[in-house]
Amino acid sequence: MKPVRQNNELYHKIYQGDRITPSEALELFSWDIIDLGKAGDIRRKLAFPKETVGFIIDRIVNFTNICEAACEFCAFHARANLIAPYELSMEDIFSKIEELLDAGGTQVMLQGGLHPGYTLNTYIDMVSSVKKRFPDIYLHSFSPSEIVHISRKSALPVNDAVNALKSAGLDSVPGASDLLVDRIRARVSPKKITVEEWREVIRCLYRNDMVSSATMTYGMGETDEEKIDHLTVIRDIQDETGILQSFIPWSFSPEKTRMENSPPATGIDYLKILAVARIFLDNITHIQAGWLTEGLKLAQVALTMGANDMGGVLMEEVVVKATGITTRTNKKELIHIIQNAGKIPVQRDSRYQVIKEWV
Ligand code: SF4
Repeated sequence: MKPVRQNNELYHKIYQGDRITPSEALELFSWDIIDLGKAGDIRRKLAFPKETVGFIIDRIVNFTNICEAACEFCAFHARANLIAPYELSMEDIFSKIEELLDAGGTQVMLQGGLHPGYTLNTYIDMVSSVKKRFPDIYLHSFSPSEIVHISRKSALPVNDAVNALKSAGLDSVPGASDLLVDRIRARVSPKKITVEEWREVIRCLYRNDMVSSATMTYGMGETDEEKIDHLTVIRDIQDETGILQSFIPWSFSPEKTRMENSPPATGIDYLKILAVARIFLDNITHIQAGWLTEGLKLAQVALTMGANDMGGVLMEEVVVKATGITTRTNKKELIHIIQNAGKIPVQRDSRYQVIKEWV
């Protein structure tokens, strides 16, 4: 890793807040990690000048693990034979949401496998039943793959499926991007959507006045150039739509998957991606530190290198847990981690509005 001289042209572009090119972003991977982290923090201050760090009290409800995609990198779906096939009833879903409300939670992420028997009506019933019983809960739910699955099962254009789900009460859809590189997708998730289909879902959300987010699962055999390709897809669609509220990178967890011989990404890999993303994605305000896959202490360091949000408390999470990762947290611990990074914790809602600040 090269130390960065202050007469470096790229250094000046970053510190002045100028947009950098994909090839300049690639060059950042060779920078000394401390220099890169400082540059990431400078860009964080330009995008988000406050020293607050947000978190949300939320719960993922994985309503089924029956999935016809059977991705290579997934240990959650029933055909991985680690978790017996299941489908939650509406009563199961209600009782999980009641527990969330008792804990002061505000957001539910309904997410499931691509169940071969579920149609648009299945999802509409789920959304409208939850909204009828819990009108104040914010539903940040499903994923672009699930949206395309719904549209295919019901032989409807994607835009019509999005519109129908919105009318039933769906508030927003997480970007769940995996890695937006078709070469990798064809190898690890051939039955999931293509990059162009992912873009189409984001465009449909935009047309329906809904927001989303973008993620990045790296460490699946991609090159550094492909990592930048992924970030470029995200920056371009954000220029076009402006609906991505946040970006969340996390490393692929190979254990217990059909790719378990892949070398796991390191902490330095994570911090580099996070800082490069913060610098390159000059049109996204919130970058989340991924405590679930990276651990709380590395997530805390990420707050000094470009991240400004800790994401959700995630009262329940099954998909990552299936790979053997057991990191858990709670509101008290997140407040402590944020304060010890010299920042001000803020409980926020799904649209990044402050609910409570611990000054
Ligand atoms: S990642 Fe999602 S789509 Fe792929 S197998 Fe797992 S549940 Fe199914």
